[in-house]
Amino acid sequence: MNIIILGAPASGKGTQADLLSTKFNLYHLQSGDIAREVAKKDERIKSLMNSGKLIPEEEMTMYILDFLHQNRPKFSNIIFEGYPRFITQYEALEKFLQYKGDDIDIVISLEVSKKTAVKRITSRRICPKCHEVYNLLTNPPLKKEGKCDKCGTILIQRGDDNPKSVGVRFEYYQENTRQLINYLEKKGKLVKVDGERDINAISADILNLVSKAKKHDR
Ligand code: AMP
Repeated sequence: MNIIILGAPASGKGTQADLLSTKFNLYHLQSGDIAREVAKKDERIKSLMNSGKLIPEEEMTMYILDFLHQNRPKFSNIIFEGYPRFITQYEALEKFLQYKGDDIDIVISLEVSKKTAVKRITSRRICPKCHEVYNLLTNPPLKKEGKCDKCGTILIQRGDDNPKSVGVRFEYYQENTRQLINYLEKKGKLVKVDGERDINAISADILNLVSKAKKHDR
């Protein structure tokens, strides 16, 4: 089973993707992590990312397809987070999966307002070692303040989690991913979920939707 989760920065898509990955034993593919790996060796990508800009859509497709070529069939059930963000990226992914005799089973769009996204993003912290994600308001570390519950590393703020960059990323989201959402809605592939509620209410809805899609998949 393959799932795509769409949502603006700080819509909570990472948290929900993590939950789905555990529940349905899916590989959680985060395009941001793949992009950050590329940025370690590429100053152009690093500065694009730090200013909140997107990597050119076809170039990002190349990184994702390279990753999939190298790692499939090891990961045959995947939840895609952060990719695709454009219609062209969706089409490239669909083509790749169909070529492998597979498909995209469900696309979930987690809907939040810009105000909510900006509020959440400035309180987001990540573990640079194990990549666990926290939110100082809604999901703080419980063992030691400012340190990762899983590995004890000091939490940091992502380079692009600043109010200016969030504004830019939200605009890109509106400009590009909205088009993808409209396209998928017309195809009848998309379900919208209200992301303004608390984590448990959202995940209950999503688990329900995915369980239904899984039954169809059998
Ligand atoms: P994210 O962690 O999903 O917010 O992604 C972090 C950054 O990685 C983005 O701001 C982009 O610079 C880059 N990136 C991730 N996914 C994509 C994509 N599908 N297309 C273009 N750039 C991407």
